Amino acid sequence: MVLGSITEVRRMLDAHRAAGRSIGFVPTMGYLHAGHQSLMRASVVANDITAVSIFVNPLQFAAGEDLGSYPRDLARDTDRCADAGVDLIFAPSVEEMYPGPMATVVDVASVASPLEGAFRPEHFAGVATVVAKLFSIMGECRAYFGEKDWQQVAVVTRMAADLSMPVEVVPCPTMREPDGLAMSSRNVYLTPDERAEAPVLRRALDAGLAMIAEGETDPAMIEAVMTDTVATASLAALDYVAAVQADTLIADGPLHGEVRLLVAVRFGTARLIDNDGGMVPGTPA
Ligand code: AMP
Repeated sequence: MVLGSITEVRRMLDAHRAAGRSIGFVPTMGYLHAGHQSLMRASVVANDITAVSIFVNPLQFAAGEDLGSYPRDLARDTDRCADAGVDLIFAPSVEEMYPGPMATVVDVASVASPLEGAFRPEHFAGVATVVAKLFSIMGECRAYFGEKDWQQVAVVTRMAADLSMPVEVVPCPTMREPDGLAMSSRNVYLTPDERAEAPVLRRALDAGLAMIAEGETDPAMIEAVMTDTVATASLAALDYVAAVQADTLIADGPLHGEVRLLVAVRFGTARLIDNDGGMVPGTPA
């Protein structure tokens, strides 16, 4: 069932909760792929009712980014949701979500500042604001987010905790193509030559993870090798590589405990991000 009205979604989910049913929620921007479906399936097994939102949120795109060209296909998305066992799709118009200018902006400081926040300064305020609004519409639920957007998981987890939202954020593993490229709606922007080089993100992460497994704790050494790996792809323009603590997204000296490696690369009009994690052997968390 596809609904476009906030009031109708609230009424339906309130009725399910009143009947004792648990709600799982998967927020998306549509053009759904197997990565999105893995989140839906995680929700379907853990909850009585699964709701998916499909909304390309203008607030999280800066001027000059791909808001206008972002791929959309609601008919195909509806089929993919049905395949995954989704009960309810919320696909609102921009007017339904933003009937007038927004005066309220949710700004999650600290975790939203580095990395993506540095390269896309307005992005996480747009994400946090729409996710806060979607959480308000969905009500008490478990909400499923992909670790592919590691910093986004950190931002929404912190927001839900800080604002005592009745939402449990559940991170889910990254789904990849057979050659290691993380699935993304934006992969359709890649030309065949760019697509052939795109697994370099995975290779850069693997090179960094191998160093961590061997006991390297200097973020600069790991980042240098990751940068060299990206440079082997002639069509790749690097935005950043980072070797940081998994929880704070900064390196506070030698790496220790749970570490996250992140990479952002532009191929022509496509901007791809990826990340993976590891443990520094023999160090305390
Ligand atoms: P998006 O439609 O790109 O905003 O993504 C919606 C949700 O799907 C986010 O929580 C993403 O992190 C998640 N997601 C996107 N790609 C993948 C993937 N390859 N594997 C797992 N989750 C993903």
